[in-house]
Amino acid sequence: MRVRHKPWAKEKIEQHPQYIVANPEEYKGKWHEVFNNDQPLHIEVGTGKGQFITEMARTNPTINYIGIELYDSVIITALERLIEADLPNLRLLNVNAVDLSKYFAKNDVNQVYLNFSDPWPKYRHRKRRLTYKDFLKLYEDIMVDGGEIHFKTDNQGLFEHSLISFSEYGLLLKYISLDLHKSEYEGNIMTEYEEKFSEKGSRIYRCEVKYQN
Ligand code: SAM
Repeated sequence: MRVRHKPWAKEKIEQHPQYIVANPEEYKGKWHEVFNNDQPLHIEVGTGKGQFITEMARTNPTINYIGIELYDSVIITALERLIEADLPNLRLLNVNAVDLSKYFAKNDVNQVYLNFSDPWPKYRHRKRRLTYKDFLKLYEDIMVDGGEIHFKTDNQGLFEHSLISFSEYGLLLKYISLDLHKSEYEGNIMTEYEEKFSEKGSRIYRCEVKYQN
């Protein structure tokens, strides 16, 4: 995605450590201290401008959520949403997902959401896909046994590559739709990209996979 430089974003992020956790490595293995409860924790990797994770947190107050986004100029919009919504069960991290194990310990996370992840269609860039085996290992290392990944995309190529990656890793397929918006799946919460692409007529692919451990 194209990222616009916003020089003021960093300063605004630093002004709101209660929403964008400033030193996430300090909470490894003890995220319940941040939320002040023992509710399950779901994370979205590549949260973008935060529409999905904010709505999920509003709809499901008994689950804690963390939205993870690499770019400060993008997460700033998620921060503005969160300031407005003031949800006790949602936090944001402005970090790179390759470092997830610096911030989360085994069993910290119950579920991972990947929504409209960058497709990286070229073979030489395959390791950057958030469904590449190295990322599947990272998610496994921070999730409870039998944790799940819920994945949506409009990109057929990424979806196919990801299904192969999930299968080769030994994940179990729990749910699949090759046309989510025409399926009977209920309670779908749309992401920004999902709204944009479905308005243009693209079909949305969705699956849920589960670690076997
Ligand atoms: N999930 C949002 C949606 O569906 O509207 C945003 C989708 S956008 C195509 C993908 C987002 O993932 C971008 O904001 C990008 O910066 C973020 N991203 C990609 N790789 C990442 C990584 N390694 N760590 C954190 N965020 C990442």
